[in-house]
Amino acid sequence: MIIIVTGVSGSGKTTLGSLLAKNLHLPFYDADDFHPTANIEKMTHGIPLTDHDRWPWLDHLAGNIQKWESSGGGILACSALREVYRERLQTVPDIIWLHLKGMKEVIAERMAARKGHYMNPDLLDSQLNTWEEPGYGYQMDITKTPEEMVKEVLSYPEISQAASHIGIIGMGVMGKSLALNFAEKGVPVSVYNRFVEGKEENIASQFAEENTEFPLLKGFDDLAGFLSSLQSPKKILLMIPAGAAIDQQIAQLESSLQAGDILIDGGNSFYEDSNRRVKDLEEKGLHFVAMGVSGGEEGARRGPSLMPGGSREAFDILAPYLQKIAAKDTHANPCVDYIGPAGSGHFIKMVHNSIEYAEMQALAEIYQLMKYGLKLTYPEISKVLKNWANEGLRSYLLEITADILLVRDGREYLLDMVLDKAGQKGTGSWSLTTALNFQVPYSPLSEAVTARMLSSNKSNRVELAEYYGHRFGAFAEDKVILIEKLKNAYALTRFINHEVGFDLMKTVSEKEGWNLNLSEIARIWTNGCIIRSTMMEQLVGIFKDNTSIFTTKSLKSKIKEMKLDLTYIVGLGLQHSHALPVMSAAANYFLSRITTDSPANLIQAQRDYFGAHTYQRKDDPSGAFFHSDWKASVPHPS
Ligand code: NAP
Repeated sequence: MIIIVTGVSGSGKTTLGSLLAKNLHLPFYDADDFHPTANIEKMTHGIPLTDHDRWPWLDHLAGNIQKWESSGGGILACSALREVYRERLQTVPDIIWLHLKGMKEVIAERMAARKGHYMNPDLLDSQLNTWEEPGYGYQMDITKTPEEMVKEVLSYPEISQAASHIGIIGMGVMGKSLALNFAEKGVPVSVYNRFVEGKEENIASQFAEENTEFPLLKGFDDLAGFLSSLQSPKKILLMIPAGAAIDQQIAQLESSLQAGDILIDGGNSFYEDSNRRVKDLEEKGLHFVAMGVSGGEEGARRGPSLMPGGSREAFDILAPYLQKIAAKDTHANPCVDYIGPAGSGHFIKMVHNSIEYAEMQALAEIYQLMKYGLKLTYPEISKVLKNWANEGLRSYLLEITADILLVRDGREYLLDMVLDKAGQKGTGSWSLTTALNFQVPYSPLSEAVTARMLSSNKSNRVELAEYYGHRFGAFAEDKVILIEKLKNAYALTRFINHEVGFDLMKTVSEKEGWNLNLSEIARIWTNGCIIRSTMMEQLVGIFKDNTSIFTTKSLKSKIKEMKLDLTYIVGLGLQHSHALPVMSAAANYFLSRITTDSPANLIQAQRDYFGAHTYQRKDDPSGAFFHSDWKASVPHPS
């Protein structure tokens, strides 16, 4: 949407334009700011500009108008007194022209009151004489207040009925937050929610009515109205539950879509479903973008991490919009990029979530060790975690944990009131089955999922705890020394969790031919998402030069040192009856990765003994397979 506010100097273009920009959440530009120095000097000295002075300036503005249009729009205040000047600016269709008109006396009074402006008031007569009445656009009476004028402009059909650039289906937690995020960034957005009589009625229109401060947001309770409100090619973001709901929604939409239209699934769909949908819709001439979205409600509203994959052509069309709403990394680059073909965007979101599960479980284990092993109070644990954040371990999950530990419910801590049964949705389990399918060791991350499952059977746990007399043991060791060891154990667990997740991405990428860029994925995850951390910022550099965290030279000595503390803490914790599923699995995973002579020779011998599965020999570099008659070869005691 491009709006140009015209009129002589002093007519109120800047006031109206900037107020409109605020209301429409579009950027405001003052054409005067684009004059070359020579023009400014002339005007300051009361010398009228010639057309020769104006053409380069107008051409520069015209080029900018095209750029502003392609990046979502803008509002320009520009005197544009003559028709030839306005024609010069008309480089995009559908510009909304607002022409400010008023009595000479009113304008002269306003000009006289202005300070620090380079336009000489004596030029008013010349400006008024130059003004050519346009026969199009809106003539606006400048004696009205700016607020009255804004209200009037917002009611113009070009604005109130403007085609939306993005449509969102599903007004749940995420859909609503993303809609407000788009509208706030100046993107006209239409929203729709299914209509279920007596249950889900008028959800979308009510949502728009509750958010009138965003005039670019329009709510529809009928699908046809929603679809016809969208600009072509239609760009429709589905924010509804994964699974059958997505297929049903696509089936409902398909007949109303045209070749080139774009469907985006922003939910947590299983990536294999997305592989299928990208292919199916492509065959029908439609684009499908399978996009992971992370950051929860707050992230969706203020800046999520976005992982779009699927149609590259569609991504290129969507990129300017997604870049507007995404979180920004430390270099102010948007946390979004094209991930790869097919369902790769949903695949990496699934891996993101499994790392998230493991990171949460690791923190839960640290909390348990500090509470029962070290006998620290909640404020003391919170303080230790905050110190760790300042000592290089900052992460979103660490910070929210430090907050949670301080929240009270009357005289109690709220955390003590929360039932210890952890919930989960699909992504955690899907990543385990995917890791198994691709033969990628995933134990630390799968333990996090298993731990949630174990937690959910509370009554059985209570019964068995009683039966075995289970109590968490307290540690006798020096607290300060143990806290330092815990910190190192936690830090290495985190490196291992990330190594495991990135290893799955690397393997699947190679096997599927997706060409995933691990460093870029880490960058997209440095902000907006739930596993954002200073460590993730380190991984951006690490995965530029390495395919594994463990082979990163700069980390080698630190990892060796932390390994001693992780194994010590896991041993101590287990001896004192602390279940540490993720930390112990991380220690086992790491030790297994760095072992030269593993006991797998015995496994191979057992397999060959009972099943003639054959084995390879260390002393035969050819890699040939052998079978032995183990039973017959057992020496019998003479
Ligand atoms: P939500 O609050 O439960 O909202 C779901 C929306 O989908 C509602 O508007 C619901 O409409 C609609 N819906 C439900 N079943 C439908 C169907 N069969 N057909 C059409 N619409 C249907 O969910 P959400 O948290 O916004 O999540 C949306 C998607 O984003 C999910 O895939 C979720 O996994 C994913 N996600 C969520 C988060 C998060 O933190 N919440 C983060 C990242 C990704 P009614 O009101 O009519 O039921």
